Amino acid sequence: MRVAVVTVGDELLSGDTVDTNASWLCDRLDERGVSVERITTVPDRIADIARVVNEYRAEYDAVIVTGGVGPTHDDVTMDGVAAAFGREVVPNADADAWIADHGDYAAADLTDGTTHLPAGARMLPNPEGVAPGAVVEGVYVLPGVPAEMKAMFETVIGEFEGEPTHVEVVRTSEPESALLDRIAAVREEFDVTIGSYPGDDVRLKVMATEAETAAAAAAWLRERID
Ligand code: ATP
Ligand code: MG
Repeated sequence: MRVAVVTVGDELLSGDTVDTNASWLCDRLDERGVSVERITTVPDRIADIARVVNEYRAEYDAVIVTGGVGPTHDDVTMDGVAAAFGREVVPNADADAWIADHGDYAAADLTDGTTHLPAGARMLPNPEGVAPGAVVEGVYVLPGVPAEMKAMFETVIGEFEGEPTHVEVVRTSEPESALLDRIAAVREEFDVTIGSYPGDDVRLKVMATEAETAAAAAAWLRERID
């Protein structure tokens, strides 16, 4: 399964907020063997959201959008996603009912628009807050508040499945440039993908669809590097 993540918010683009939602989602999806192929951040602007969602829904099996689902003037994500499908944003009866059942207030008491979702959307209840999320044909719209985003994502995580990858990590103090010959050789010898991440030392990430293959390739590398 191939997925794109879209985070929405002017505050992300100005550097006021660090985009922890994207990295958290990537981590959860990666654990399940789902391949995340894009992270794109867009401003709180309907046309920008619509353009990216429209492009990605054609290309990927699912698109996860976070941020800007509240009812305030700067929250336009539902409008952007609706526009990507050429649909209207309309009052959602399931969202009204859920809020009436789970809140201390009726939907009518909430800020206008809180329960408005793209026409035909499946409503996602917000286990940690009020504003609901939505699913429209493989496009998942989640809140921006990290605790709300995480709790809502956990309710749909079963809809994201891929082929789990087995990972072994090999560390070395050799410089990355010196390792090129052995990285090429291990890739010839085994059916593995190798990631190379320099830092204080170099971390080689050995990935394979079979656990034994990853372990054998990591052992092969450990014998040949310092
Ligand atoms: P609300 O209903 O509270 O308005 P919302 O879904 O509209 O929620 P935003 O208004 O976009 O979400 O953001 C709410 C809070 O969550 C802000 O403090 C924002 O900085 C933070 N936030 C939004 N997106 C992200 C993100 N990608 N990573 C981390 N924090 C984020
Ligand atoms: Mg908001």
